[in-house]
Amino acid sequence: MQRRVTRPVRIGNFMIGGNHPIRVQSMTNTPTEDVSATVHQIHQLVDAGCEIVRIAVPNLNSVTALAEIRKQSTNIPLVADVHFSTTIALACLPFVDKVRINPGNFHPNRDVLKKLFTRAKQEAKAIRLGANWGSIDRMLLAQWGHSTEAVYQSFLPFLEAAHAVNFQNLVLSFKASNVPMTVTIIRQLVEKLDAAGYNFPFHLGVTEAGNGAMGRIKGAIGIGSLLLDGIGDTLRVSLTENPVQEIAVAYDILQATQRRISQTEYIACPSCSRTSFDIQRVLGELKAQTATLKGMKIAVMGCVVNGLGELADADFGCVGAGLGHVNLYAHGRCVKTNIIEADAVRELLQIIVTHE
Ligand code: SF4
Repeated sequence: MQRRVTRPVRIGNFMIGGNHPIRVQSMTNTPTEDVSATVHQIHQLVDAGCEIVRIAVPNLNSVTALAEIRKQSTNIPLVADVHFSTTIALACLPFVDKVRINPGNFHPNRDVLKKLFTRAKQEAKAIRLGANWGSIDRMLLAQWGHSTEAVYQSFLPFLEAAHAVNFQNLVLSFKASNVPMTVTIIRQLVEKLDAAGYNFPFHLGVTEAGNGAMGRIKGAIGIGSLLLDGIGDTLRVSLTENPVQEIAVAYDILQATQRRISQTEYIACPSCSRTSFDIQRVLGELKAQTATLKGMKIAVMGCVVNGLGELADADFGCVGAGLGHVNLYAHGRCVKTNIIEADAVRELLQIIVTHE
């Protein structure tokens, strides 16, 4: 799988874009002015694996809070989320590593934009141009219709102002709640951006995805489709839940698309009447015992029908072999036969230790 070639951009301790790992981010949902609650949530997010934390900054009081949040969140890449106001965007810059502005609600006055980009350049900070379908300028929609061109035109004055002052630390994003539309527009948008020489990293997400299983499915399909196209350098899964819940989903999407391997990979059949052992129990026990073996592929298969083919592709595994028994495999080769299922996990763990 080819990854889109993008220019690396520094966000605090992390680089995004280029060949750097696709970074996982989230956003606090505490009142920003409540410094202790926000700092607490930032630390919860980081403990869950979040690598970049975005904070809404709706007013100048929040900027004051942001200064204190910065002090109490040393070394964590922070992003200020700013709408409408260049004054707030400029005021945030000293306290964060990136400022997200929305081209749809920021007046694209060239001098003002040049001032913002110049200051960001002087302070070695990044800017994300984060367009949302719900806030694309009405004039652009009237002129270009509900199209990729309208989104592209929304970015253009910002890209040109950044170019005028040679500011390169840009990240772009486009989000909508409609999954097929998000994917289609981003595919077309990235083609246009690349053709015009704007190879800035892309931030992925499906906005207003809701919660629960459907929220996760929307995020997985939208973000996952683009990752499989090679698009995307950082991502946020948006859920109407505690943002900490977003992090595991983000890593699962990266693992499933094989864009960033951070876990053990399990291959297990759904089981059917040919299954002759308690596959759910064996899989559950194995997962509990092997969760830290990052990148290892372990297969648990009910019978030989698909079992042998899948095991050939796995590092280790077991396949049903008669009532209550399994055969154990290492690197595609059967190494133990007819093990009673109660011993399957213990025996397979021994094989993993011996053969690794
Ligand atoms: S691998 Fe065998 S047990 Fe598992 S679903 Fe397929 S046929 Fe059924």
